[in-house]
Amino acid sequence: MEAPAPVAPSLKHWRTTLERVEKFVSPLYFTDCNLRGRLVRDSCPVAALSSFLTPERLPYQRAVEQNFLPAQIGDCFGPTWWTCWFQVELIIPEAWVGQEVHLIWESNGESLVWHDGEPVQGLTKEGEKTSYILTERLGEGEPRSLTLYVEVACNGLLGAGKGSMIAAPDLEKTFQVSRAELAVFHREAYKLLVDLELLLGIAKGLGENNQRSFQALYTANQMVNVCDPAQPETFAAAHALASRFFGQRGGESQHTIHAIGHCHIDTAWLWPFKETVRKCARSWVTAVQLMDQNPSFIFACSQAQQLEWVKNDYPGLYARLQTCALRGQFVPVGGTWVEMDGNLPSGEAMVRQFLQGQNFFLQEFGKMCSEFWLPDTFGYSAQLPQIMRGCGIRRFLTQKLSWNLVNTFPHHTFFWEGIDGSRVLAHFPPGDSYGMQCNVEELLKTVTNNRDKGRTNHSAFLFGFGDGGGGPTQTMLDRLKRLCNTDGLPRVQLSSPGQLFSELEREAGQLCTWVGELFLELHNGTYTTHAQIKKGNRECERILHDAELLSSLALARSSQFLYPAEKLQDLWRLLLLNQFHDVVPGSCIQLVVEDAMRYYEDIRSCGNELLSAAATALCAGEPGPEGLLIVNTLPWKRTEVLALPKPGGAHTLALVTVPSMGYAPAPTSQQPLMPQQPVMVVEETDGSVTLDNGIIRVRLDPTGRVTSLVLVASGRETIAEGAVGNQFVLFDDVPLYWDAWDVMDYHLETRKPVLGQPGTLAVGNEGGLRGSAWFLLQLSPNSRLSQEVVLDLGCPYVRFHTEVHWQESHKFLKVEFPARVRSPQASYEIQFGHLQRPTHYNTSWDWARFEVWAHRWLDLSEHGFGLALLNDCKYGASVRDNVLTLSLLRAPKAPDATADMGRHEFTYALMPHKGSFQDSGVIQAAYSLNFPLLALPALGPAPAAAWSAFSLSTPAVVLETVKQAEGSPLSRTLVLRLYEAYGSHVNCWLQTALPVQEAVLCDLLERRDPAGHLPLHDNRLKLTFSPFQVQSLMLVLQPPPA
Ligand SMILES: [Zn+2]
Repeated sequence: MEAPAPVAPSLKHWRTTLERVEKFVSPLYFTDCNLRGRLVRDSCPVAALSSFLTPERLPYQRAVEQNFLPAQIGDCFGPTWWTCWFQVELIIPEAWVGQEVHLIWESNGESLVWHDGEPVQGLTKEGEKTSYILTERLGEGEPRSLTLYVEVACNGLLGAGKGSMIAAPDLEKTFQVSRAELAVFHREAYKLLVDLELLLGIAKGLGENNQRSFQALYTANQMVNVCDPAQPETFAAAHALASRFFGQRGGESQHTIHAIGHCHIDTAWLWPFKETVRKCARSWVTAVQLMDQNPSFIFACSQAQQLEWVKNDYPGLYARLQTCALRGQFVPVGGTWVEMDGNLPSGEAMVRQFLQGQNFFLQEFGKMCSEFWLPDTFGYSAQLPQIMRGCGIRRFLTQKLSWNLVNTFPHHTFFWEGIDGSRVLAHFPPGDSYGMQCNVEELLKTVTNNRDKGRTNHSAFLFGFGDGGGGPTQTMLDRLKRLCNTDGLPRVQLSSPGQLFSELEREAGQLCTWVGELFLELHNGTYTTHAQIKKGNRECERILHDAELLSSLALARSSQFLYPAEKLQDLWRLLLLNQFHDVVPGSCIQLVVEDAMRYYEDIRSCGNELLSAAATALCAGEPGPEGLLIVNTLPWKRTEVLALPKPGGAHTLALVTVPSMGYAPAPTSQQPLMPQQPVMVVEETDGSVTLDNGIIRVRLDPTGRVTSLVLVASGRETIAEGAVGNQFVLFDDVPLYWDAWDVMDYHLETRKPVLGQPGTLAVGNEGGLRGSAWFLLQLSPNSRLSQEVVLDLGCPYVRFHTEVHWQESHKFLKVEFPARVRSPQASYEIQFGHLQRPTHYNTSWDWARFEVWAHRWLDLSEHGFGLALLNDCKYGASVRDNVLTLSLLRAPKAPDATADMGRHEFTYALMPHKGSFQDSGVIQAAYSLNFPLLALPALGPAPAAAWSAFSLSTPAVVLETVKQAEGSPLSRTLVLRLYEAYGSHVNCWLQTALPVQEAVLCDLLERRDPAGHLPLHDNRLKLTFSPFQVQSLMLVLQPPPA
């Protein structure tokens, strides 16, 4: 029989017609007679329910051995972060033979169903998963009774915030199972519901001015006419009407949407790392189930760390993931260990994200990722394109810039060019989300919102519940399949990231280029929040740098030394884990912070053990006095004042000179004649103090503020006329919502300078090798600061050692330095280089960067002169007009109410200079501040002579990393990573004292460049750099002497 045409035979009112259909599918209204009310044909309670409650996250085998006690639906359990295991006995009524039977399970906790010892389905009401299909058609004689276990985690999809999502967790929360029953599922009714909802979406989405919209509405209306919910035999006619509508094809020029299943799982955020492991299991087992049932469904999954967790804890599920990967349905993306923060990690740490990630994907899934995947991170360094390219990746996906508060980013598909000129193809899904639900509104937004219309006709569409996991549902897939090609809508194709980018690459000739950083105009407080995490990050980056370098030198020098490759990999992975985009930014709950601090502590203690072991190996076999080995881990010679430990815990100051990447014996008691001027400390009668080392002269007023900073040789004053530096300022810091994340523009209007008490300044070190003065400053009734201002002999910068006891709520502490320098732009260090940002607020793009990030230094220079501000663990900064400001401490209360409360220690430094910051050594000074000379106790005799492993012919090139090549722990191959730091084309000779037999260039993943052999001349080799270029090379060492 021909389906009746969906034409309304009489005049119809748009709204009443629409609402009629809405009521027909409503879960709230008229369910006694509408179609939704027929979704479940019959139901019965589960046969028996018993439970076992535990504070631990137990593996299945141990959980099911426990003592389960009878339980009822509606019983309360908890508290937050506990787990309730349910044993569920099911008996399917015999009368249900031939029917589709589901277990319906509703709880406010996150559930995982186990069957025969394996996880089979995640059930989370918030993720629209409440039903586990027991059988699609119950066969005659099939077993009708079975036992399942359901593991209910006492937290929601997004944690357990008290009152609001990002509030600190409510630790008293209780949980319930509100529904647990067997149900006969009416598949045909469900299909009609999907169709009707899509038709409603089309009618609403295209609106009353659109012909196709009316066709959708009238089709839906006619479906309601022909469909009697009580008479399932009428459903086919309604279904045929829908098929006719959806089968009307679009034209050739239709936009194509690449629908890619995804499940963004924050590696830790509003829940601890340990819960993430279970979130992965719940989410991925559901995705695997969907892959089995929908052969065209493709699911993209990032973050090697999460896969490794599942590999260890859920081997059965992991094997299924690998099978799906072989079929091309499970697609690893990203290439990194975790989805890291895009601003704060060092260049080397970013390389390691890829090195650890790509090697994991290669080993476990047979290939590396082709797309860098960072949909949710708070901004993207201008060095990332080069790092991606060096790690085998030319494609990049994110959407986070759609969160910009001020400016709309002008592209969704474009080339992104980094500071060195490297380019990658970037795509932002134009629907501005990574968690699409697959409704019509989202598909239409993807088309209309696309900022590159006319240049590209393909877009990504990432669907599935995200952030706390969850992932796609069968309903999402059913919607997408129904809309694969319907006139009036974009074409929808279940696709992979690879297919999408291949299409975009075909259209690449039309694309525009964005040069420089992808700055997120939001979440700018994350450069400062949780100062201890930032400090741990910077410190552990240094420890791993030093441990790798010394271990490499020990490997080259000692035939007995075993390079601690496995240990270093473990420590690196901990550091990389903490660089996740809600951990190092400080936007996580207290439980996560505690874990993160413990990981840093592990890196510190193990890292220091590795340093000692390497130092001991370096000393072995060398004659000389017992004592200390002074080690310089930086690639230039340094002469510095160093505090040497004395027996009994005391220290003595000494001037030491240590060659580039090498060591020197500790100085003996006779100090050599000092060629430089000793530090003079003069205390004036008004209470001010002047420190002078012949290079710089700094005058502190009686409250510790800098009233003058003179570059002695030129007599040039650095502090702006009539102003003072080292001025602490407090701001009210009340964002609109995202407390730990956001500092808003209006905080600048609440600036309050902190004024000290005259007479608090006192002389510390009296001069000679070191001069210093110190003072106390009451910041507020509850917070205080003490600072020692230190000037060393021969040092071109003055250091400010700072201790703060901080007890505040929604305050922001910064320190300001008004400079006698005029420039429209300031320079900031980033990964393997630096960039410029404006010092004015001309346009909305300039103004939106009122709070920015930097690594170890920022600099404001005019021609021939400038002032640099260095730091040892800070990231937030700004330069407005002539004022350099370093952001020190915040006091947000959500999601961690204790964030930043307590004691802090940090150091910043001020370095006036003539010439450019490059030529005057600012970059080297910032390294020196961050990589102090090491005084390592030598267990045996310490070497009598100084020794240098590597040196470079130009200061423009930094030898950043020396490590053993990946892969084989016994390998005698080192990898060196160097970069051009000044922004110049330069030739560079690398000199080494190590027994190198072969040198060859390689990429960041340590894959040899077949054309990259470098000739060695007298242990020297020549390298050529372009601005900010990063180069890696392998040095194959000669076998050790027998
Ligand atoms: Zn995220």
